[in-house]
Amino acid sequence: MTMPVANQPRRRGACPGVLAPMQVGDGFLLRVRVPAGVLPADHARGIAELGDRYGNGLIDLSQRGTLQLRGIAADGLEPVTEALRGMGYVSGDAASEAVRNVLCSPTAGLDLKAAMDVRAVAHTLDARLAEDAELHRLPPKFGWLVCGGGIGHLANSSTDVRFDAVDAERFRVSLGGTLAKAVPLGLCRVDDVADVVSALGRAFLELRAELPEPPRRMAGLVAAIEIEEIGARLAPSISPLPPGERIKVRGTHLMDFFGDAEPPHPTLLPGGEKEQAPVMVTAFPFGRLTATTLAALAAACAEIRITPWRALILVAPSADAERIAEAHGAILSHTDRRLKLTACSGAGGCDVGTTDTHATALAIADRAGPLLDPVRMVHVSGCAKGCAHPAIADVTLTARDGVYDVALNAKPGDASPYTGLSPADAVARVADLLTEESTGA
Ligand code: SF4
Repeated sequence: MTMPVANQPRRRGACPGVLAPMQVGDGFLLRVRVPAGVLPADHARGIAELGDRYGNGLIDLSQRGTLQLRGIAADGLEPVTEALRGMGYVSGDAASEAVRNVLCSPTAGLDLKAAMDVRAVAHTLDARLAEDAELHRLPPKFGWLVCGGGIGHLANSSTDVRFDAVDAERFRVSLGGTLAKAVPLGLCRVDDVADVVSALGRAFLELRAELPEPPRRMAGLVAAIEIEEIGARLAPSISPLPPGERIKVRGTHLMDFFGDAEPPHPTLLPGGEKEQAPVMVTAFPFGRLTATTLAALAAACAEIRITPWRALILVAPSADAERIAEAHGAILSHTDRRLKLTACSGAGGCDVGTTDTHATALAIADRAGPLLDPVRMVHVSGCAKGCAHPAIADVTLTARDGVYDVALNAKPGDASPYTGLSPADAVARVADLLTEESTGA
């Protein structure tokens, strides 16, 4: 079977899309970019059916707020693409799809604490990225974020360009990082967002080209040049921040406004902060669910919001939604220890993987139980590359040739005192280490 014309081979270093499917260990992976992260229930059912019929029935929630269909067969690419096109999730070509990396507050329009319902702005931004061909030269992974604040704020999501609402009509625009770390550029009115996006994208492309080693992300550009050089190319669409705002913003001023800096998903789950609308939040270990689960959840609500926190928000859930989610193994409490587990797809979904990383991680949660309570993260990596979390975790297991190296406070591939352990021995070693930590032995 030949590749359908609509689907193009992925550019080196590019992110996967519907029109740029990525060949991985379990078949083709298709990343579906859903504008504003708002998935009507009938679309969710349709996507679940596609995953079931043409794929291996596994669906991943990415940290970029997208859905990823896994295990799509080569002869399923064309019908899946056409079905997704019918739902409005496919761009004109792979280049215009690749740049539509827009993260939107998943509680937009559901949260009275938010400064603004940013769904329409996220749609506008998504559309401008697809339409403006000049922006299709932006590097892979270059991302944008629209945050209305409130309980589902995106303060901790790091991206290239942030639009954080300061009131119902204006955004604070900042570049290269989380809310606390991004460099403030100025204020922009809602109506100017699309033009600011076009101007900022062009400014990035032109200014990076003037540097001896052009940075691939906005954080690299703002580290290399004065922020005013970028700002000068955006006037009059961007107005200066009030005097002293930069200092306040870089400290705690806006953090107070937006709430605490902890990852929001645990507080969205029952037992954390109370939601303000009829919604139900449900998370999934490793952000992985099945098409069957997605279909069942879609039948139990009016709309699904996709979050960057391995969780879905069900809008207007039915009375039995919680029972259904629980029956499908979903996480319904912020105290569920599976929220502490991180793992790449491992042997099941990556050619390089040699162990079942998900099974190992779940076995650790089972075996360690309460010993995990003081731990922030256990990371089981299929190899030293550490795709799921290249940074340091409290406990890191790195696989190679079917065995694990185990280390505390390390990143994948770091030197380890415990090497070559079978999966069962690695699980037991982690439990022993956590016991020693808890008793101070
Ligand atoms: S960390 Fe290694 S095994 Fe895991 S997904 Fe990345 S390349 Fe594959």
